[in-house]
Amino acid sequence: MDAALQLEEIQNFKGKYPKQLWALFFSEMWERFCFYGMRGMLSYFMVDQLLMSDKVANLQYGATQAFVYAFTFIGGLFADKILGFRKSLFWGGILMITGSVLLAIDPTNFFFVGITFNIIGTGFFKPNISSMVGLLYKENDVRRDAGFLLFYSGINIGAFVGGYIIAIGKGSMFSDYIPVALRWNVAFGASAVAMTISLLTFIRTKRSLGPIGLSPLLHLPVKKQRIYEYAVYLGALAIVPLIIMMVSNTTYTDYFMFTIGPFSVLYFMYEMTKNNAAENKKLIAAFIFILFSVVFWAIFEQAGGSLSLFAKDNVGNNLVGMTVDQNGINNSINALFVILFAPLVGLLFIFLSKRKLEPNTTLKFGLGFLFLGLAFFTFYALRFTADESGKGSLNLFATAYFVVTFGELFLSPIGLSIMTKLAPIRMQGFMMGLWFLASAYGQYVAGLFGASISPSESASGIEKMNVYTAGYYDFAWYAAIAGLLLIACYPLLKKLMQEVK
Ligand code: GLN
Repeated sequence: MDAALQLEEIQNFKGKYPKQLWALFFSEMWERFCFYGMRGMLSYFMVDQLLMSDKVANLQYGATQAFVYAFTFIGGLFADKILGFRKSLFWGGILMITGSVLLAIDPTNFFFVGITFNIIGTGFFKPNISSMVGLLYKENDVRRDAGFLLFYSGINIGAFVGGYIIAIGKGSMFSDYIPVALRWNVAFGASAVAMTISLLTFIRTKRSLGPIGLSPLLHLPVKKQRIYEYAVYLGALAIVPLIIMMVSNTTYTDYFMFTIGPFSVLYFMYEMTKNNAAENKKLIAAFIFILFSVVFWAIFEQAGGSLSLFAKDNVGNNLVGMTVDQNGINNSINALFVILFAPLVGLLFIFLSKRKLEPNTTLKFGLGFLFLGLAFFTFYALRFTADESGKGSLNLFATAYFVVTFGELFLSPIGLSIMTKLAPIRMQGFMMGLWFLASAYGQYVAGLFGASISPSESASGIEKMNVYTAGYYDFAWYAAIAGLLLIACYPLLKKLMQEVK
């Protein structure tokens, strides 16, 4: 069948979701299992097995996160120019499997090389699968946000389950079956298996995708296409030693972060010179959303940093009458709430849009910030529940995560969706990469924010409670102000976005 007809058929789907979405959902679910599984083990492994201090491990962890998301920008760029989304995904998957297998073979000696393969691999995989979700929809299809919300639950199922495989490494799960010396190998090996399943799922589904995600170079002679393609593959392998060096020395991470941002903005401006005015207006709107998202992630990502230390010292372990691990709750309850509520929020949007009541993207983003603000006021309120040792209520802590989740649902999947709506087709990968690059900066700033509100080691429980919650109080205001500012920008954004809602 002719490509345009095939695309027409895919995008003219009946019902709420296109059927190809499910394949992308599962492929991304397994990829996130691999990613969050590994991410969840990094800090612990560095302290426990590589004998790094907490401080070094924290910095190191921050560096890997910043690099991962920074590479999505590069992966998106090469997908647009040379590989197309499918080959990018495939190549990214292969690199991630390689990285995880290396870690499974010898996590101690192959630590940085394994992580580097995963960083580069995620760069090729992560932004491009999200872009493909966007291509399942016609430009003005009102079901698109709901599709991204469903896709987002897949992400979080992977994150939720993958986050738990650290228990294999620590020996609190399957310890009777796995010799002590091999526990971490098996745990990292689980990531490799997950990534293999992700890739196989994707390969199986490729045929149903019609022309979606094919290389942009198909008009060139095959030989030329191959030369470009292999140059990307070789280039990705050639930079491995450089990235190992940069990831293992966090000073280089600072340099890298200072360089990649300005470079990407310059490149963005250069690409804009090739567009017409209407396209550029949309890109400026996308850029405004991207800038705001840095603020969002800088506050949201306290979850992996200061909030986990806060949980350790200042949160009790009684959740609605059950005794649980408050750090476990800190790590996983957000993902659980996303899984439960993402489809419901998606259906709510479809319901509202049928009645012409669906909030537009600016309002959704604005509300996302307001939820985030409310959540951080709730974290702040933990100080009013503190006992004499400075431990506050876990129920209230979990409630704050409940509210955070709605902030995330109104901003993160909607952000993916709006990138696919505002970017011209030849810049889809790049803009998705830029969206995730904002996450890299968010992670980076989150570390700085977290460090700025850290109490001293010798502080008492009550003092720590007061210092942390005072910080959360400020963050709550930053979020609220950002949300109101964004909503105030609505008239401008509306003009820039033109027919896009
Ligand atoms: N948790 C989401 C994911 O893993 C969003 C990550 C982000 O953009 N910072 O895809």
